Amino acid sequence: MPESNKLFVCYIPGMDRRRVDEQQTPYVHGLLQDYPSCRLRTIPSTELTPTLLTGVGPGKNLIWQVSRKDVDPLTTIGKLLNLLPEGVTTTAQCFKHFIDNTYDLTAVPWWRRRQFNLHRMKYTRRETDPNCLNEIGGYSSILKELGPDESGYVFCKHFVDMEKGLSIFPRAGKRLDFVEFYGLDLYSHWHLDKIDKINDKLRYVDSFVERLHKRCRDAGVTMMLLVDHGQELIRESINIQKLIKNSGVPRDEYVYFCEVSAVRFWFKTERARTAITKLLQGVEHTALQTYQQMHDHGICFDDPRFGELYLFANHGHTFFPHDFYNPLANLFLGLTDRLLRPRLLNARHRGNHGHLPNHPAEEGYLVMGERDYDVTRETMEVTDFAPTVMSLLGRPPADHMNGAPAVIHAGPPARLSEPGA
Ligand SMILES: [Zn+2]
Repeated sequence: MPESNKLFVCYIPGMDRRRVDEQQTPYVHGLLQDYPSCRLRTIPSTELTPTLLTGVGPGKNLIWQVSRKDVDPLTTIGKLLNLLPEGVTTTAQCFKHFIDNTYDLTAVPWWRRRQFNLHRMKYTRRETDPNCLNEIGGYSSILKELGPDESGYVFCKHFVDMEKGLSIFPRAGKRLDFVEFYGLDLYSHWHLDKIDKINDKLRYVDSFVERLHKRCRDAGVTMMLLVDHGQELIRESINIQKLIKNSGVPRDEYVYFCEVSAVRFWFKTERARTAITKLLQGVEHTALQTYQQMHDHGICFDDPRFGELYLFANHGHTFFPHDFYNPLANLFLGLTDRLLRPRLLNARHRGNHGHLPNHPAEEGYLVMGERDYDVTRETMEVTDFAPTVMSLLGRPPADHMNGAPAVIHAGPPARLSEPGA
């Protein structure tokens, strides 16, 4: 890629490769057939943007939900609060969130919440303050490495905003435009059981990519389509919280944090460790992993402060209720965000990802929108993305970006027109 060239990363999480075909999505299907592309192996997380942009995994950028905090014994007020039903305190926390939207994890009962340090980067934060992506956990991202004049990140949630984006993108002057089109992923989480609706959105996204690709070409910018995962239809939920509660182990002997696809545990006594581990081993449609085993999936922590034991739901299953569920907040979200309307009928996700890898729902892909590139291997890691971009823009990767470029420029441009041409 010549020094003067520019890159537009069209990031569409959730565009499952299994649903990309000649009928529904002919344009993206054509790109995958005819243009340089490689598969992308992801990590068991729903927060992948920090890893994509920094080139280091959650073990370093620390975007990994929560870690355990040592807390002082309860004060008298704390003891009194403890007597209130959990629904009362979590509802109060939800109201607190309305006033201060940086207040997070409102649905976690306060006595558990106080034992957590928060390490989350919600999309709402990326949306309102893209500068939070410059440096994550002390590691600079490709945006910081390239500088604000040459690079930019835009978060785009609604389909209608994608359409508006077509008149803006690619932006003049940016060598790197990284635009996250989150609508399809969010929509799939709540509509994957309605295949006609999903197909409508897929057809729209396909035509959007076609029009965006044309705009990039007209502007002399290379488009890169990046999809880091798909989604699996949810068939059943598991009430793990009830199971733990009924285990008979006193609740002050362990701590847990329950996401949609995984629950993590910390134990304060050997008795709790033994009893709960045994209980979890017997939960159907799940897989149990120690934090050391998580290293095999790209989640590399040297100690158990981010979780000692993880229980992952198998694909097609989620945990419900989980630590993001509060009936009042669910009602509010269902009423105020049209992408989330199905919440009003049923608060369980319809589609999901972020489970253990080695499943098609957790597989992504990267396609170059021009033919003058070579892919260096069949499958790239999510940490290879940052060094790939740096190398395509003719810059050395930052020292911490240990991955390897998955795409390289193949030589003088030999640009062709449409896919299939
Ligand atoms: Zn998602």
